[in-house]
Amino acid sequence: MKYKTIIGLEVHIEQSTKSKMFCSCSANYFGMQPNSNTCPVCLGLPGAMPYTNKVAVENTMLLGQALGLKLTRRSKFDRKHYFYPDLPKAYQISQYDMPLCEGGVLDVGFGPVSIVRIHQEEDTGKSTHETINGKKVSLIDFNRSGVPLIEIVTGPDFDDPDKVVVFLKYIQQTVRYLNISDADMEKGSMRLEANISLSTDGKLPPYKVELKNINSFKFLKNAIQAEIERQGQALDRGEKLVQETRGYDQVKRKTFTQRIKEEASDYRYFPEPDLPEMTFDEAFFESLKTRQVELPWAKEARFMEEYGVSKNYAEILCEDISKADLFEKLVRQTKTEPKKLANILINKKLLDKVKDGADIAPYLTQQEAEISREEIEESVATVISENPDVVEKYKSGKVQVIGFLIGQVQKNFQGKADPSLVKDLILEKI
Ligand code: ZN
Ligand code: MN
Repeated sequence: MKYKTIIGLEVHIEQSTKSKMFCSCSANYFGMQPNSNTCPVCLGLPGAMPYTNKVAVENTMLLGQALGLKLTRRSKFDRKHYFYPDLPKAYQISQYDMPLCEGGVLDVGFGPVSIVRIHQEEDTGKSTHETINGKKVSLIDFNRSGVPLIEIVTGPDFDDPDKVVVFLKYIQQTVRYLNISDADMEKGSMRLEANISLSTDGKLPPYKVELKNINSFKFLKNAIQAEIERQGQALDRGEKLVQETRGYDQVKRKTFTQRIKEEASDYRYFPEPDLPEMTFDEAFFESLKTRQVELPWAKEARFMEEYGVSKNYAEILCEDISKADLFEKLVRQTKTEPKKLANILINKKLLDKVKDGADIAPYLTQQEAEISREEIEESVATVISENPDVVEKYKSGKVQVIGFLIGQVQKNFQGKADPSLVKDLILEKI
């Protein structure tokens, strides 16, 4: 690749507060009759006065704290103007020059990523385009209008779609740990925009292409890859790339132009006159500190240290906080050796099934007679190191030779080891 890939992200997270950002309508509009969850404020009717949802603001700052950003002492809301049918006021209440959190650096394992800011804003309504009685119509539902949104903006610090995915999973997990949102991409409670450009000289080019409407991690990775290819081919042909917003067609595996991008000045930002400025005191920051939960990576490290579980297992146990809590509860209740308990919970896929010590007791006795994962792992390691030629064959594409390796491992256990586990462990190792 003769060009340097530069990717920055904008992440929107819809908060699961009780009420909307600036009115008392429910923030949980899921499954509701269209336009039933509205009031003069979130419909943008003239004269309606917004008021700030304190919990939403606190949660946004809680996230900023967890991700290592600088929390502001003074903040305000601004109007961001643009015209779209799902935005009845013709402006979105957002934040411009005084966001709640700014300036942080986060390292999730592949080097530092700067987080430029995290700000508070409100969601828009939702339009759908349908054909009813043979007529093409556009429908608007304002149930989502005014739901609290958090926007996270990163620096242009990614050079690879895989890293983007790792970073976003980290954000998603943190948001879930803090109980701010379910951050479900398919449901739209976590939405991503990736800004992509290619550099010919290592410097930031004068354009960026914004990829929008991405609703899964897989989709995101494919979309970024397709866009990198498109830009690379255009540059090869000597074309000049323009600042624009593009969507992604999953079927054609290509991105397509949606609109030529606005500059920030096009939004005519100005301070929201209907909402007071926010100030935060020492006592508030102290209370935020006491609300900080143990975050997934800290928990993983502690599980490895305190319970001796492997990194891989610690990650599975800490995937969500309820699994981690269940594991620790079972450690206390069953007095089983934690490492062994983790093996049973994960290998038997019990993390979603059992609730307490009594539920897991039968599995504990049954386990005694079984071959442990560690034993299999050891045997796999030996078989792999004794058969480098077979491993090479597998890697060069002769995947059927895996059968031989499985057979060699099974020999050690008179064929009684769980074959799918044996296969998984071999694949993991090679
Ligand atoms: Zn409302
Ligand atoms: Mn936004």
